[in-house]
Amino acid sequence: MAKRKDDRRPLRPATAMVHGGTTRSGFGETSEALFLTQGFVYESAEAAEARFKGEAPGFIYSRYANPTVRMFEERMMALEGAEDARATASGMAAVAAALQCQVQAGDHVVASRALFGSCRYVIETVLARAGVTSTIVDGRDLDQWRAAVRPETKVFFFESPANPTLEIVDIAAVAEIAHAAGAKLVVDNVFATPMFQKPLELGADIVVYSATKHIDGQGRCLGGIVLSSKEWIDENLHDYYRHTGPALSPFNAWALLKGLETLPLRVAQQTRSAARVADLLAESGKVPKVLYPGRDDHPDAAIVKKQMTGGSTLVAFEVAGGKEAAFRFSNALEIVLISNNLGDAKSLITHPATTTHKNLTPEARAELGIGDGLLRLSLGLEDIDDLVEDIEAALAAV
Ligand SMILES: *Cc1c(COP(=O)(O)O)cnc(C)c1O
Repeated sequence: MAKRKDDRRPLRPATAMVHGGTTRSGFGETSEALFLTQGFVYESAEAAEARFKGEAPGFIYSRYANPTVRMFEERMMALEGAEDARATASGMAAVAAALQCQVQAGDHVVASRALFGSCRYVIETVLARAGVTSTIVDGRDLDQWRAAVRPETKVFFFESPANPTLEIVDIAAVAEIAHAAGAKLVVDNVFATPMFQKPLELGADIVVYSATKHIDGQGRCLGGIVLSSKEWIDENLHDYYRHTGPALSPFNAWALLKGLETLPLRVAQQTRSAARVADLLAESGKVPKVLYPGRDDHPDAAIVKKQMTGGSTLVAFEVAGGKEAAFRFSNALEIVLISNNLGDAKSLITHPATTTHKNLTPEARAELGIGDGLLRLSLGLEDIDDLVEDIEAALAAV
């Protein structure tokens, strides 16, 4: 990026995803270099001492920071408009680090009930063991967020759109409630992707991603990232990250950097396909409920318009006939694969009630709108006409 004259003009997303954060070695390589190294050597004992004292710049150990991982962090910072970031080995490492690094025994966390199962485990089990209490609310109901606040409330946490029903939380409104309570807001932005929603601009303090999903987007690597202000990272995450070791592998960081180059293209294409499939399902007469943030009949369409710049690469829908019909639909698909992942180049279908959300009680599932006929479809990069034919054939089989 050294050739750019005016660094104050922010790069537009597609440009930032190709060039953002790039640093070149002395060889001047075009593609990002993969620094597959654990450590670094010093020219002298004095140089090592100065680096450890923080008086000289440079890398020390890849558990702290690594040049390839830093390129990934800086590219994500450019996209998100964040001052600093730490990349992690998985999305869950990012969620756990973002929460654990800022709470201690006696603190209280408020979270929305429509959460990725592992996030709920971190809050209700891992944090609870450390003496941190929590209140789970219906994220769409602002009065529940307000009522949950206690003097010791430190953190608010939610995802929007939420897995698997694509339920929406009003980020700006919940951020205001959090800040009035003196708490920080952490948003899991996986389903929106960095292309369609900027939680930091809407008032969130910290954003987390599973980079495993759209950022890799080709089903290869696990990864995650925590983004925030420099001040918050310095005071909360910096030491925690160095000493507990959730660091991202440089190899995976390299794959994720290459994933970011095509993220805008992939998300745009997958969203076009998702919108087309949502309309097809809604108009088929065979699907009683279609949930798609880009459609006007989404229950939270007004908030979608306010805080998102695109719909989603996923569609959730309920087939009539419960589990049996949902299984028949899934098994009839020939191109769309049955898998619990999402954001992949391959279209994937999931039956949440028997897989990702099987650990919830039937009552908890009902509360979240996860019926036995609910399916979650993640659109891939296949030709839309092939996907339409595949889905129409499966509908005929139900
Ligand atoms: C997948 C996912 C995670 C966890 O990410 P991993 O990379 O699988 O650890 C967290 N939050 C949401 C919303 C997810 O979809």
